[in-house]
Order: sequence, then structure tokens, then C-alpha cells
Amino acid sequence: MSSPDRETVTGLPPGIAAAREELTPMLSQYADLCAAHEDALVLFQVGDFYEAFCEAAETVARVCEVTLTERTDSTGEYPMAGIPIDNAAPYLDALLDAGYRVAIGDQVEDAEQASGLVDRAVTEVITPGTVVEEDLLESGTTNYVAAVARGDDETSTVPAPTAGLAAVDVATGECLVTAGDPETVVEELDRIAPAELLVGPDAGDIVPADREWTVHRHDPDVFARRAALDRVDPYVPAPERRFDDDAELRAAGAVLAYAEYTQGDDGPLEYVSRVRRYDPRDHLRLDAAAQRSLELFENRGLGASDTLFDVLDGTSCALGRRCLERWLRRPLVDADAIRSRHDAVAELADRTLVREGIADALTTAYDLERLIGRVSRGRADARDLRSLHATLAVVPELKATLAEPPSDAMDDPGASEGSHPRTDHLRDLRERLDEIAAVRELIDDAIATDPPQEITEGGVIRDGFDADLDELRATEREGREWVADLEARERERTGIDSLSVGHNQVHGYYIEVTDANLDRVPDDYHRRQTLKNSERYYTPELKEREETIVGAAERADALEYELFVDLRERVAEATERIQALADALAELDALASLAAVAVANDYVRPELTDDPDAGIRIEGGRHPVVERTEDAFVPNDADLPRGSVAVITGPNMSGKSTYMRQVALTVVLAQTGSFVPAQAARIPVVSRVFTRVGASDDIAGGQSTFMREMSELTGILHDAGPDSLVLLDEVGRGTATTDGRAIARAAVEFVHDELGATTLFATHYHGLTDLAADRERVFNLHFSATREDGDVTFLHRVVRGASSSSYGVEVAELAGVPRPVVERSRELVADDEADPVLEGDSPSAAGDSPAVESHPDPDDGLDDAVDDDTADVSLREFLAENDDEDGSSAPSADLSSDVAAELRDLDLARTTPIEALNALHDLQNRLDDDE
Ligand code: ADP
Ligand code: MG
Repeated sequence: MSSPDRETVTGLPPGIAAAREELTPMLSQYADLCAAHEDALVLFQVGDFYEAFCEAAETVARVCEVTLTERTDSTGEYPMAGIPIDNAAPYLDALLDAGYRVAIGDQVEDAEQASGLVDRAVTEVITPGTVVEEDLLESGTTNYVAAVARGDDETSTVPAPTAGLAAVDVATGECLVTAGDPETVVEELDRIAPAELLVGPDAGDIVPADREWTVHRHDPDVFARRAALDRVDPYVPAPERRFDDDAELRAAGAVLAYAEYTQGDDGPLEYVSRVRRYDPRDHLRLDAAAQRSLELFENRGLGASDTLFDVLDGTSCALGRRCLERWLRRPLVDADAIRSRHDAVAELADRTLVREGIADALTTAYDLERLIGRVSRGRADARDLRSLHATLAVVPELKATLAEPPSDAMDDPGASEGSHPRTDHLRDLRERLDEIAAVRELIDDAIATDPPQEITEGGVIRDGFDADLDELRATEREGREWVADLEARERERTGIDSLSVGHNQVHGYYIEVTDANLDRVPDDYHRRQTLKNSERYYTPELKEREETIVGAAERADALEYELFVDLRERVAEATERIQALADALAELDALASLAAVAVANDYVRPELTDDPDAGIRIEGGRHPVVERTEDAFVPNDADLPRGSVAVITGPNMSGKSTYMRQVALTVVLAQTGSFVPAQAARIPVVSRVFTRVGASDDIAGGQSTFMREMSELTGILHDAGPDSLVLLDEVGRGTATTDGRAIARAAVEFVHDELGATTLFATHYHGLTDLAADRERVFNLHFSATREDGDVTFLHRVVRGASSSSYGVEVAELAGVPRPVVERSRELVADDEADPVLEGDSPSAAGDSPAVESHPDPDDGLDDAVDDDTADVSLREFLAENDDEDGSSAPSADLSSDVAAELRDLDLARTTPIEALNALHDLQNRLDDDE
């Protein structure tokens, strides 16, 4: 958690406060803005710069690395620091990073037109969780601001202690609200990973101290029940009925209050289009580490490519895209609900024309959720209503598409009964496609086909919609026609051929006569304006006509506006129906997308089993993301009886991590309602997925601490159960070999004996394979390598049983390391295996354990080459040790050996990539200097 030392630098800087009585009007204005924004650092526009003064200036200078200057005026000298407005982003970024909220005090009046001091106001408070500026947002990530609150036990219908959570993603307008016990709420917070978190006055104990969330304090009053009700009201119809839990109402009130505050306190926010409540118990639980390492939404690899969501997203409109994202974020646990989605996907996968028809139709659908949000808050313009109309117009087409009998109707017994779609799910969706014809027709009758953006300047309402408007328009039109004919009439009457009729803003209509013809001007012409070579006139009749025209036009504009607002209100009455339709369209799009992706990527419908004893069985499974970049992805089977522990060994880069993840992703996809990348799959409903990637392998996380690895392991060991799927990837690697091996072994034993969770455990501690000997549900899998044309090739194929060990040495041999070195390394490996730490673990720890089920693959060169069951030594460790033993390869110069020693001592397992680069750079420099 980070928070700035707010006493001195947010709100009113002490130096300004002390001088408050004497300040010039401008600094006095600054002081007022600061005093009104206690939680924020105020940046004050002075011309082309945002300035801060006194202590706040010192902060800006330090954090933004800009020069601290001085402002001198009649009342004294004030430290001052500023950032350029037209390049503010990097400086604002630095302030946000340092944990500040920044209130932007803009000049809200044109400096040239201001008499005296330019008026300034805070137009926006920029905070880590609510930034909307494109250049401050990391692209493609969601950015939530969240609030947690405790409920008032008396009004809560859920037994205490309960906690509420609400989160707003300002970029998409998604607002999530949920409640549960504090532990569940924290897990949801992990899923949401808020950029900024507000903690209710009595909820401080809910939030664990070890998270990286920026916790900000905000006015505690916004958490009060009454205030929360009022706040939520414009967003949610009848909030007291919608929120049965007090805690979630308070959290929602607080987060919306905060979101409004950051947007300049301008009332309800347009972008928060829907408030969604959900119950965490209805979903597959994925803790933060699982979401991260499965790369559902965020690719963490260096040189990142796709995420699971990228692969899965073939939606046609924003509604569907957000729906699919919600589904994937929270897969289901109700088997019937999941099967129902599978049914629909299967039907759509089958019926290509229907699927493509849906996709086509939906590409013309606008973002109905946001549209109706604007309509109901009175912010929609005529174009928005037209977009709404265009979207509603898609509905009858969709219904017809869905009802079409399949092209193979002859062979389909259902076809004759006319019951299409075939599946309940799609039939139900079709029912939910509410045409809302009255609204559609109303908009079509009323609103011009291509209306202007402005709704006060006319041109919005169609002819024929309102008799009064038509009459005003007729009057205006007649007037204009009369004027249009005037020129010809007056030329004839006066005999002045050059006479012309014109119009300008200031003088209105006029008749213009050149000086040469002035003698022919009739008596009823009144002079209006004298120009260089001509005179302009009006006649009483022209004036009268003009007044009629202008009057009619003005009244028409006003009437149009009135009609529009009235119409908008009538449309708003259908808000709930339109929202329900939006949901149905979104689901249809998401399902069609799942079907299209299943067809395109050759996915198969997973069988979801209710059998309580069933394990996970996947035939020919693939990793949905890796298979897209790998030319020849090798499919693998997985047969994991319930409660079994698969110990997976194999050299680096052989495919262990990929394999484990593809199993987890297959489960996640299946429970999302998607088909899965496999030839066949049978999946029991899993309630939680845990993953733990060993610190040294988690290089992209930037959090390569063994401590963290262990604390996340702790979480798994506490919470996993028989319905959980657990992935442990190189756990224990982050510390010294002996400790790491011991921890890994103890963890497997515990997972197996105590938790009964279905577990995949990839490890380079080869000795762990003997666990299969004395533990019923532990079995071994391995990946192997082979040599082709002198190159090491990984087969990426998983094989039952433990492989031969000492991959490092094996790879070294395959790579052509000289024979004596390889042999010596085998000796060392054997010594290492005799390590006393392991002796107690198993009676036959270092021996050739009879229990190891080794079914060497006949064409697997590796297995044949070695079959002594010794502990793994990585190539790196091997080379280092070899260096010790064999002086011949050691550099002779002192410096070189110093460098070598340092290199050797570098604990890669605890070194971040950046630290490693820096260390290498240093070492290189030292060698260079020496030359
Ligand atoms: P390990 O965890 O054993 O070190 P990874 O699972 O990280 O290995 O795989 C290393 C690389 O091998 C992956 O990035 C991928 O490019 C490739 N790979 C993994 N599994 C397969 C497979 N089944 N088919 C083809 N390539 C694969
Ligand atoms: Mg790996």
C-alpha cells in the first residue's frame, strides 16, 4: 500500500496557510482550491503551466524532477514549481505513481475576456483508479477504483460479519457490486486488482496489508447508508430493493461518490452505464495469482503476445465483448448452467448460416447499454436516439435468423414441428429479444434520419410528427419563399435591374440599390444602411415578413427541443426493457463468438460430468494461446483422477508449464461455456483453480521473491480442497536447492494427504518422482528430449512415468559438451543426490526406486541413454561446479577469476531480470576497464 505524507503536501500547503490573510487575489484563489481539496495536490493553471506553491511546490519539484523557482509579489516570496500543460502526462504519471491524487485547477474563463482575475476551478481530480486520459492509461488493461465497506448488522439481511465491495472501471463504465465474508471480498479484490481502493471507516481490518493497492482516504460520510442511497439512486432504480445487503450499498455509494468527485463533482456519471450485482459463490474462484499466471486477460511474457481473451474474442459488438469478458472473468460452477451454454454454442457451431447471420446483424448494433444510460440521464442527443433505433431495428432480423429452420430441415425431425432454435437456451434468448417496437417506431416517426448533434438548433424532428411544428415550419417556409420572390417583384416594380435582396446577421433582410439608381427608389423604401456605392433599404412589409420568419424559426427550434426532450423521456420509460434487451443481445453475441471460435480453432464440446468421483480427462489437449504461435503444436492427453497428484519432470523448455496451463485453461474455458482445444474432454465442475509459479520462473512478475512464493503457497495449502485444481510450477526453486527440494516434497505430501486436491506439480527436483512409490494417488509424468542432427530437440510430448534424470547433464551431452566433462558431472550429480536432507524422505531416496513407473518411449533417445534415478542438476549448476573441479577452464588473470567468482555467486533464483542485466553490465565493465 502506498500513500503520500499527506499532512504537508495535499490540501492547503502550510506556507500558504500561514500567509493566507495577505495573499494576492491569485494566490488567494489557489488557497481556496487547495482548502477545498484536502486529499489532493492542487495544480493551478497560470498561462501555459500548472503551478504549485510552497510545500506543494517542493513536492512537485522532487517527484517530477523540475526546478523549484520562486514567485515574488507585493506580499512576499513563495516557492513555486510548474509543469508544462501541453506535455503534462509524464509529470502527472509521476505524481500518480508516487501515490498522489492531483486536482487540476484550470482557468475556466478566457484570460483575454476576464475583467481582473481569471476565474479558476477544479475541473477534474486525477487519481490512479479513475484516470481516463488515454496517455495515462496503460492500453488494454482495465483500471478499477474500488471501495470496501462493512455493513450495519441491524439492517443487513445476511448474517454478519459481512463486507461489501464495489468497483468502477471508468473506461468501460462497468460497475460491479458484491458482498460476502471478508475473505471472499479480498479474493474478489484480487480478481479486480483495483488501481485505487477506498476503505470504509470501519472496514480497515478487511484489507490485508501486503497488497500493492493504493489505498486512499476519502470523506467517510460517503459510506453512510443514507448518503449511499441518495448517491446510488440515479444509477439504480429502487436501490433499497436492489441491494439486500447494507455493506454493498455503502461500498457502491462510496465508489460512485468518489468517481463523481474525480470528474469535477458534476452529478451522476454518464459512463457508469450499469451497476451489476453478483454473488461470488456462483463462480469458479480464481485467485489473483491464478489469473495472472493463466494469462486470461494480460500477457505477462516479455515481448507479450496474445491472451486467452484475445483468442476467444470474436464478438461483433461492444455489448458482446463486455459480456464475454465478464463470463471469462467469472466462469460458472453450476453444471446445468454451463451445459446450457454448451448447448447453445453447439447449435450455433452447427448452424453456420444462423451464426453468421447473427454476427452480421450485430455488427450494426450500437452500445445499447451506454446509449440507454445517456437517455435515462437526459444526456442523449438526437443521434443517440437514431443509434438506438438502428440497434432496435436489428432485433426482428435476429429473431427471424434464429427461427430459420436448418438447411438440413428434411433430415431434422424437429423441423417439422417448427421448434427453432433447437436448444432451450437459444429459444429462451430468442424470447428475450424484445423488439420494443413502440420505441423503435416512435423514434423513427419523430427523429430526422440524419439529425445534427445540437438539439437546440432545429432540424431534429421530422415533418409530420407534430402539427404545431409543421405549421411553424410552413410559416417560415412561406416567408422565405415570399422573400425569395421579392427581388423579381421589386425589379419589375422599380425598373431597377441591378436591385438585389440580401440578408445578413446584423441587419436582417434588405433591398440593395446602387447609387446610380437611387432616384428610382420608391417612397415606401426605408433606409437601413449606407455602403460605399449603394444603399440598403427595407419596406414595412419586408420587415413584417422578416419578423414572422424569425419568430417562426425561433419558436420552431424551441418546440423541437421540447418535443425532443419529451420524446427522450418517453424512451427513458423503456429503460429496463432496453437494458434487458441489451443483455440478450450481449449474450447472443458472446455465444455466437464462442461458436465461431470453436469452429475456427477446432475446439470440441467438453462433457461436463456430475459424477462426484470423476477426474479430469482430456484427449489431445492443446494450449489455446501457445498453439496459435507454435507451428507444430503437439497435443497431449491428461488423465487426472480426482485427488491425484501428477509430478511432472523434464528439461527446461520441454513443455511442462505449457501442459499444466492447458489443463487449467481447458477447465476454465469449459466452465465459461466455451468449447475446448482438444479432441475430447470430460470435466467435473471445479470450484477453485489455484496456480503457483515458482519465483525464479515468474520472471515477468517483477516480484521474484521467495517470500512471496511461499506466502502464495500458504494460501493454497490453506484453501484448496477436493473440488480444486492446483497447479504448482517449480515451487521451491526460489531458494537453495536443499531447502527448495524439501519444501517441494513436503508440499506435495500435504496436498495429497490432507487436501485431496487434483494437482499438477512440475518440478526440476527429480527425486520427487519416488513419491509415486508410497502414495496412492501420486503418479509421474515426464517430457523428454531427443537429438536430431546434433541439435537438442524437445518432443513436447508428455509420457507416463518418471523420466531419466539429470536433464542438465543430458542436455549438456546432447549439446556436445566433451565426454569427460559429462561423466564427471554425472559423478557430481550422484554425490548431490546423497545429500543428507533427502535421506529421511524415502527409504530408497537415491537408489533405483522400484516404484517409479518408467515406461520409456522406444523412440525417446534420452530414456535409453540414462536410467539412474538421480537428482537433477541444472546445466548452470553443473557448469559452475565443473569450473571448481577442473582448473583448466578457469581464467588465469586475477580479475577474470574475481569476475567469475562473482558470477558464480550470483543467485539467479533471487535476481530480477533487471538486476541480472545490471550485474552483467557491471561485470562487463570491469573486464573492459582491465583491458
Ligand atoms: P518448461 O516449463 O518445461 O520449461 P514450457 O512449457 O515453458 O517448458 O515450454 C517451452 C516452450 O516450448 C513454449 O514456449 C512453447 O513455445 C514450446 N512448447 C511447449 N509445449 C509445446 C507443445 N505441446 N507443442 C509445441 N511446442 C510446445
Ligand atoms: Mg516451466
